Amino acid sequence: MQLSGFGLPDYRRLLRAALDHDYEFYTVAEYLDAAETAPRSIVLRHDVDRRVSNAVALADVEADLGIDATYYFRTSTFDPEIAKQMASNGHEIGYHYEDFVKERGNPHRAHTRFAANLASFRQHVPIETVCAHGNALSPHLNIDMWNEDTRTPADYDLVGRAYEIDADDDGSSDRMYLSDTGRDWDASVPGFGAVRSTDDVVQALESGDCPSVYLLAHPSRWATSGVQRLERVSWDLAAETGKSVANTVNTVRQADGRFGSPARVLRTLRSIASTGIPGRK
Ligand SMILES: [Zn+2]
Repeated sequence: MQLSGFGLPDYRRLLRAALDHDYEFYTVAEYLDAAETAPRSIVLRHDVDRRVSNAVALADVEADLGIDATYYFRTSTFDPEIAKQMASNGHEIGYHYEDFVKERGNPHRAHTRFAANLASFRQHVPIETVCAHGNALSPHLNIDMWNEDTRTPADYDLVGRAYEIDADDDGSSDRMYLSDTGRDWDASVPGFGAVRSTDDVVQALESGDCPSVYLLAHPSRWATSGVQRLERVSWDLAAETGKSVANTVNTVRQADGRFGSPARVLRTLRSIASTGIPGRK
């Protein structure tokens, strides 16, 4: 896990580097629809799992740079006004579906629910592609709703699904898959080497060695303020190491009777991180 490099300025720097090195940006629908694509391209995807305001912040950075991306909203994060605003700025809005898990693996009920949710999104914005939400706590995979039923995306007038884009994180296909999951890009670009931090991504894009990219950025992982940065880091650490870290963070916070000095909290978090996290690859 990288403890820095996931703030809005870092995100802007990453996009800037891509633009400066002639990468062309595509939404998922644009890419799936294109007969031919630019020699160097980035398909830019966002799964809005939480924190809609962070998605708005990322969309604003992109609009400022003239970049279009795809934002996949869950029913819990979909806000019609925000979606309409994003769409009017050129972004694609997609449905981040989780109907198979919600219906506990029943394909018929999942499709009924999927159809209803898709229709309700479409009352506000066009939806051309969908993307499965992952839920580690469920034994079911949302993409399986397509395997256990004869209905296809075309039956729903969809251009396609996010996972139909071929990409890999080690250069074994023509397109690099770069995901911020775990706040660590955790990829390897042939000719360049390991890509862990956002600085690595920027340098890989600048090196000329990086091929086309399928980039997934979860808005909730990109801090839009100093407080959010600390919150995110402690959340990620807690998720990976268990409650003991959460308790430590709380102790650190309470020591000052408020959030504490950001530098001090960050120092403590760094020391927790550097002692090694069991089970972390
Ligand atoms: Zn998700």
